[in-house]
Amino acid sequence: MSKVLYYFEQLCRIPRGSGNEKAVSDYTVSFAKALGLDVIQDERNNVIIKKPASRGYESSAPVIIQGHLDMVCEKNSDTVHDFEKDPIKVIYDGDIIHADNTTLGADDGIAVAMAMAVLSDDTLEHPPIEAVFTTEEETTMSGASALDISLLKGRRLINIDSEVEGVFTVGCAGGRKPTVHIPVEYTAPPFGSFALVKVSGLLGGHSGLDIHRGRANANKVMGEILEGIIDEDCRLAEISGGAKENAIPRESRAVICCRDGERLRSKLSDIGKRLKEKYSAVDPGMEIETEACKRYDKVFSIETAHNIINTINEIPNGVIAMDTELNMVKTSNNIGVIRTSEEEAGIFCALRSAVTAEKQAVYDEIVSIGNKYGGKTTYRGDYPAWEYKPVSELRDMLVSIYTKMFGKAPVIETVHAGLECGIISEKAPDMDIISIGPDLYDIHSPMERASISSIERMWGFLTEVLRQMK
Ligand SMILES: [Zn+2]
Repeated sequence: MSKVLYYFEQLCRIPRGSGNEKAVSDYTVSFAKALGLDVIQDERNNVIIKKPASRGYESSAPVIIQGHLDMVCEKNSDTVHDFEKDPIKVIYDGDIIHADNTTLGADDGIAVAMAMAVLSDDTLEHPPIEAVFTTEEETTMSGASALDISLLKGRRLINIDSEVEGVFTVGCAGGRKPTVHIPVEYTAPPFGSFALVKVSGLLGGHSGLDIHRGRANANKVMGEILEGIIDEDCRLAEISGGAKENAIPRESRAVICCRDGERLRSKLSDIGKRLKEKYSAVDPGMEIETEACKRYDKVFSIETAHNIINTINEIPNGVIAMDTELNMVKTSNNIGVIRTSEEEAGIFCALRSAVTAEKQAVYDEIVSIGNKYGGKTTYRGDYPAWEYKPVSELRDMLVSIYTKMFGKAPVIETVHAGLECGIISEKAPDMDIISIGPDLYDIHSPMERASISSIERMWGFLTEVLRQMK
């Protein structure tokens, strides 16, 4: 265990934000060379280190231990820290490790540190080890995508990138980011008075992990508002909402040009009351407000406005299908961002499904909605699902060891978000994969913390699993 913390501290000394992994990758390479272990570093700075079996395990099948080298770099706005140069400060506080108002990078430094502790410890009993460290997991997963799987002999893989001890992840959704482009036509503003309509105060959240909570989507709420107010006397000049496709938008704004401000306010107050009631349980802080705003020199044609509004309202949003057996979200979509420009209105979505065919079906539906309103649809960021395998020897083995060690069975879960395991399982469909990890809290934020006792238990668990792989 002291080795795990030692290597974690070493990793924290090296800046390793996504895309900046060269130095940390080189560090693991020289670590392997110093131990006389076989090591491969590819052009994406992924690293594979191979350690032969301990005595008596020579005929055992190899096992892969995998984690990612990069970390999310987040700090508070008043924190002075250069993620390109400064080391992460590791602060021990009782059972907790945290950093000095920055992300800690226990996601996923703990995985790399555990693998390094296994590689460097000659007292452990284990089959041949293949440690795999990937890059850019937190952004594009391009490290895992570029990984040459033929370099690996192992057909069972333990990924250490889960954040709850006692929860084993066994599947994940695939995803794609569709964008519907609706061409726009502008006309001169028919009236002199302009108003800004704002939806705000929503809780938002992660478009995968929080989608089952049914929270309001500010863009979708705006779609309903515009549906109720836009007509000959009330014209749309601009709409913009949300910040990222994969975040449930908390705010959306539209600029309206209207004949009669009083009529607009009274319509809005009726619609606002209805929407606030509809979302009162899940989003009690929702505000729908209007204020005067500067004059615009053009507004959308009525047809353009309807094309935009209908597209927003018809694209499926939120949970689309549930997996009733695992009680998990199976398919979902999030209208994350809307932007209008001189040429078009862009409606940016994050679509996810545990089933590849269902992802395609919803995508096709989005394309046909876009087509109906004169638009076209493109996509980027496609990644595969890690489909749940009903039969898994590795899972059975880990569940039985965990249950014996800790007196309770682990929870088996799939997640409605992307994992590197999906990319690896697409490359090697016969790979038996499980994802585990110690308790980490508030990852990807300056509040990120790790539990020392949980790391210790998971380290004990990992070494016991290796010992039983005879
Ligand atoms: Zn991670």
